[in-house]
Amino acid sequence: MEPTKSFWLNNAPYQDYRSTPDLPQTAEVVVIGGGITGVSTAYWLRKNGVEVTLVERRGLSGGATGRNGGHISPGTGERFSESVKRYGIAIARAVWDYSHQTAEGVRAFVAEHGVACELRFNGSVSLALHPEELPLVQESAEEMAKYNLGGEYWDAATCAERTRSEDFLGGIYRPTAGQLWPAKLVFAVAEQAIRLGANVQTQTAVQAVERTDGGLTVKTDRGEIQAQQVVHATNAWTRHLLPFLEGKITPVRGQVIVTEPAPRLWNFGLSTNFGYEYFMQRPDRRIVLGGMRWLTPSIEVGTDDDTVVEPTVSKGLHEFLPLHFHDLRGLRVEQEWTGIMGFSADRNPLIGPLPDRPGEYVAAGFTGHGMPMTFYAGKAIAEMIAGKEPEFFVPEAFLPARFAD
Ligand SMILES: Cc1cc2nc3c(=O)[nH]c(=O)nc-3n(C[C@H](O)[C@H](O)[C@H](O)COP(=O)(O)OP(=O)(O)OC[C@H]3O[C@@H](n4cnc5c(N)ncnc54)[C@H](O)[C@@H]3O)c2cc1C
Repeated sequence: MEPTKSFWLNNAPYQDYRSTPDLPQTAEVVVIGGGITGVSTAYWLRKNGVEVTLVERRGLSGGATGRNGGHISPGTGERFSESVKRYGIAIARAVWDYSHQTAEGVRAFVAEHGVACELRFNGSVSLALHPEELPLVQESAEEMAKYNLGGEYWDAATCAERTRSEDFLGGIYRPTAGQLWPAKLVFAVAEQAIRLGANVQTQTAVQAVERTDGGLTVKTDRGEIQAQQVVHATNAWTRHLLPFLEGKITPVRGQVIVTEPAPRLWNFGLSTNFGYEYFMQRPDRRIVLGGMRWLTPSIEVGTDDDTVVEPTVSKGLHEFLPLHFHDLRGLRVEQEWTGIMGFSADRNPLIGPLPDRPGEYVAAGFTGHGMPMTFYAGKAIAEMIAGKEPEFFVPEAFLPARFAD
C-alpha cells in the first residue's frame, strides 16, 4: 500500500534518486533513513571528510519529515515546566539550549545556501483552550521568566486580539519558534551532501545489519554493502532493525490537514490541548493543522501505518478550525495525510553509539519534536564518527546507553 499523500511531498524531487545506478559494495559509513536526521548525518559526515552512503526505503523525506506539521519550535518537547519536573533544571535547560543551537544551525544553513523552504521565525503560541490547561500555561510562563528564557504570557484579551478567536483563556508566546516547508529543507541538505560526495540510494530498504569479520554487512532488497560503521536514522521504525529498542522508541501516528487559502489570520504558529493540536498559516494563506489523536482510544500509539487516515481524527480535524475561528467557517480541506512519530520512553532522543554494538550509532526517538533537534543530531553523530567531541550535544540526556538493560 502507498503511504498517504502529504502536501509537503507534492511534486517532490529525490523520490527515485540514486547517485549511482548500482548500490556501492562498500562504504565507510552507511546511514539508514532519508529523513532530516539521515540527510543531516550524511551532510555533516561529508563536511568531516568521511565517505558515506545513505539508503532510504522510500523517496527522501518519505517518513515523518515529509508528513509533519511544519513547526520548528526550539525548546523542550513538552512545556518547559513539565521538563523541569521530569529531568530537573540542569537537563531541561541543556536541552533547551541544544534545540536553540540546532534551530540557529538550520537558519544559518538556509541562509548560506539560499534554501527556499519558507523558513521564518515569527514565534508560536501555546494556548489554553480548557480551564485545566490555564494553570499549566501560567506555570510554564513563570518558570521561563525565572530562567530568563524569553516567553511572553498572553491573557485572554490578548489571545482574542491576536488569534482572532474568543475561545482561548491564556497563552504563552515563544518568539524564537518558527515554521517551514520541512521536506524542502531535507532536499536542500541532501543536495549539499551529494555535492560534497555522499552517495544517496532511495527506494532501497534495509532488511538487516549483521556483524562480520570485516565490519558490518548492511543487507538491503538490492544487495549488500560492507560498512565500517552504520547510523540508524530510522526514527519510528528503529525497532525493526534494532529489536532491543522495542518499547524504548514507540511509533505514534499523527494526522494533518491542509486547507484551501484562507483570509490572513496569523503569521505565527499556534497549539492547543496540551500541544495535541498544532497549526499555522502558510505564506500562500493555506492553513496546516495537525492533532486530534486523543479522540481515539489508543491515542494512535503503537501504529506505524501511514497508508491510511483515521476517520475519527479526520472528523475532529475537519471541525476544529470552523469551531474556533468564525473567519474559517466553510473553509475547504484540500489534502489530508498521516505520518509516524517515534516517541522515546523518556521523551528525549537517542543520539550516539549503540551499547554493545561497536560501529553502530542511532539518532532517533525525536518524540514529535524533531525539527529543532535533528540537524545537529546529525552533526553530533558525524563528529563522534570522526573522533571529535560533539560541539552541541547533551550527553546525560541523549546517549542511547541510558536504555541499556
Ligand atoms: C504528523 C506529524 C506531525 C509532526 N509535526 C512536527 C512539527 O510540527 N514540528 C516538529 O519539530 N516535529 C514534528 N513532527 C516530528 C518530526 O517530523 C520528526 O521528529 C522528524 O521528522 C524526525 O526525522 P527523522 O529523519 O529522524 O525521521 P523520519 O523523517 O521518519 O525518517 C526516517 C526514515 O527512515 C526510513 N526507513 C525506515 N526504516 C528503513 C529501512 N529499514 N530501510 C531504509 N529506510 C528506512 C523511513 O522511510 C524514513 O524516511 C511531526 C511528525 C508527524 C508524523
